[in-house]
Amino acid sequence: MLKGYRCDLHIHTCLSPCADLDMCPAALVEKSIAERLDVIAICDHNASENVEYVMKAAEGKPVHVFPGMEIMSREEAHILALLGTMDELLQIQDIVYRSLPGTNREEIFGCQAIVNESDEVEGFNERFLMGATELTAHDIVETIHRLNGVAIAAHVDRESFSVLGQLGFIPPDIGFEALEVSHITGRIKARELYPKLSDYPFIESSDAHFIEDIGKGFTTIYMEKPSISELKMAIEGRKGRHIGW
Ligand SMILES: [Zn+2]
Ligand SMILES: [Zn+2]
Repeated sequence: MLKGYRCDLHIHTCLSPCADLDMCPAALVEKSIAERLDVIAICDHNASENVEYVMKAAEGKPVHVFPGMEIMSREEAHILALLGTMDELLQIQDIVYRSLPGTNREEIFGCQAIVNESDEVEGFNERFLMGATELTAHDIVETIHRLNGVAIAAHVDRESFSVLGQLGFIPPDIGFEALEVSHITGRIKARELYPKLSDYPFIESSDAHFIEDIGKGFTTIYMEKPSISELKMAIEGRKGRHIGW
């Protein structure tokens, strides 16, 4: 049986230096449920330490969590990686950390807190998570696909840090499954703004950095169950799965 899942596939936690410290796993899960979201994806900048804690906070609760990451390419474009398992996410994490130079300067960029499902601080990430990796956008998408994940060009309606803004176009051979727009643009307007990209499915998500923004953007996706393989089928419009309006 297909069900329309309300999905917000781009949410940050307090691990992202630009996100609010209130974005800890338990609060974020509670707010997602209050916003009637069925599926969320945690996509911190170049990092994943809080993902398992969000998954723990969501255990037994009516919201499914996809492991994810928002990776910055050497061209300074943000790419969302959505994975099926923590193991696959950790493999991507390994590659990202080997390609991410520098250390964080908390006084400039903000704090990068690792917080567990009980609101306890487990530590701080010292890496320069706001920095660009040395990986090209092509490298990143190829790695995501090798690990059976879904690659989405983040916030293409934003000038800064988007594939469109940084490269000026979506390389046709790169193989993004979908393009993301903010709730301010929305998917209907995106179709008007980007007629050349009409072959791509668009999704809308919140890119929430603050609790109150969770669910402001979401996409209803028709699947049998929330899984990466079902999500892929919906994006490709196969076997009745599809992205709703
Ligand atoms: Zn971004
Ligand atoms: Zn983001």
